[in-house]
Amino acid sequence: HNYTRDDILRLVEEEDVAFIRLQFTDIFGSMKNMAVTVSQLEKALDNRCMFDVSSLDGFYDEEDSDMYLYPDLSTFEIFPWRPQQGKVARLICDVYRMDGTPYEIDPRYVLKRAIARAAEMGYTLNAGPECEFFLFHTDEDGLPTTLTHEKGGYFDVGPVDFGENARRDMILTLEEMGFEILSSHHEIAPAQHEIDFRYDEALVTADNLMTFKMVVKTIAKRHGLFATFMPKPKIETYGSGMHINLSLERNGKNAFRDENDRNGLSREGYYFIGGLMKHMKAVTCITNPTVNSYKRFVPGYEAPVYMGWSSKTRGPLIRVPEGRGENTRIELRSPDATANPYLALAVLLMAGLDGIKNQIMPPDSIDENIQKMSPERRKELGVQELPRTLKDAVDELEKDDLILDVLGRKLSDKIIKAHRKEYHDYCMQVTDWEIANYLYRL
Ligand code: GLN
Ligand code: MG
Ligand code: MG
Ligand code: MG
Repeated sequence: HNYTRDDILRLVEEEDVAFIRLQFTDIFGSMKNMAVTVSQLEKALDNRCMFDVSSLDGFYDEEDSDMYLYPDLSTFEIFPWRPQQGKVARLICDVYRMDGTPYEIDPRYVLKRAIARAAEMGYTLNAGPECEFFLFHTDEDGLPTTLTHEKGGYFDVGPVDFGENARRDMILTLEEMGFEILSSHHEIAPAQHEIDFRYDEALVTADNLMTFKMVVKTIAKRHGLFATFMPKPKIETYGSGMHINLSLERNGKNAFRDENDRNGLSREGYYFIGGLMKHMKAVTCITNPTVNSYKRFVPGYEAPVYMGWSSKTRGPLIRVPEGRGENTRIELRSPDATANPYLALAVLLMAGLDGIKNQIMPPDSIDENIQKMSPERRKELGVQELPRTLKDAVDELEKDDLILDVLGRKLSDKIIKAHRKEYHDYCMQVTDWEIANYLYRL
């Protein structure tokens, strides 16, 4: 929406809105908000709402404290699940310093900066995610568990699919908030689901992803369920990914499209893949930012393990899906929904553009099943593995100057430090697996 300041004031009045949530996203991808009442709305719209970041773990650095929230008027939405008298609306905000400069670790700013660099080259990024999640039971205290009695599988229908009513509600709510939902279905694992919404320009998609996760979790709770985007909550079954479909637009046309090419891809399409592959290991630290993310990268569960691309097979890291013409796009299958969507799209965009700038041709496509290939054959073809752990990914990030530059110095330092600490804490754990395998014989 292209709302003006007056539109917002009118909408708030007409719709009987009582509270406005000023939302932003911290560096770890968690949504945060500060609520104001209508009495403070004009002040908020004048970019004069202040907040203190110094107690926000994922949002401050040493001397940082007071910041301004600058609402993006186009993001005004009413929460359909809150009371319908004295409604609750939200505005997604950019974070600015007191001196009127953008706060350099604000993820939304990082994406906007990447988008501006792409615009200088004449490109707009379109992105369409496919989010997977589980719906689990809560215990008697209302706390999440990994329990489900459901036995549904890929594309199953009710009554086997216990999630149909929750999914229905999620979708209707999202539609009320302006989403165009393309499809939804039961995923492969019991209690696992997927809802796909329409692609959009990168910033809108990143905002949408934040809203999407909030809605899915909120509506699940209303159905007495707990929705989780955790990449691998159960060892014995599939993990949840967030495939991202990517395409560039130039002069209003799909820049990846070339009908005369055997894969239907333009030079720019190939170079974009080339750039993604070149920076993929560092990018993975941003698209897969938790210890648990790497538990998903194991053979047998339709998640990528090796780095290859193909327009023929379903299993590779990068796939060129069937849609051609203006729908020509590439699908990156490694990301998961724990990624901060602003940072993920920023690094993906700049990695791909590096490919275009430097005319990086990707390695040959691999049209046989990359997971089933013998190690010898993989070696022969020069197929590399995605990082195996969060530590490997952080090491790769530290070596990639282009990706560090996309994030900016201060933000990358914070991310590297936080991830190293997370990995260290994790390594200190003595797990059930160790007790089960070692205690009896050592
Ligand atoms: N859940 C799989 C993953 O981890 C994807 C399965 C699918 O979409 N067919 O990426
Ligand atoms: Mg899908
Ligand atoms: Mg899926
Ligand atoms: Mg997919």
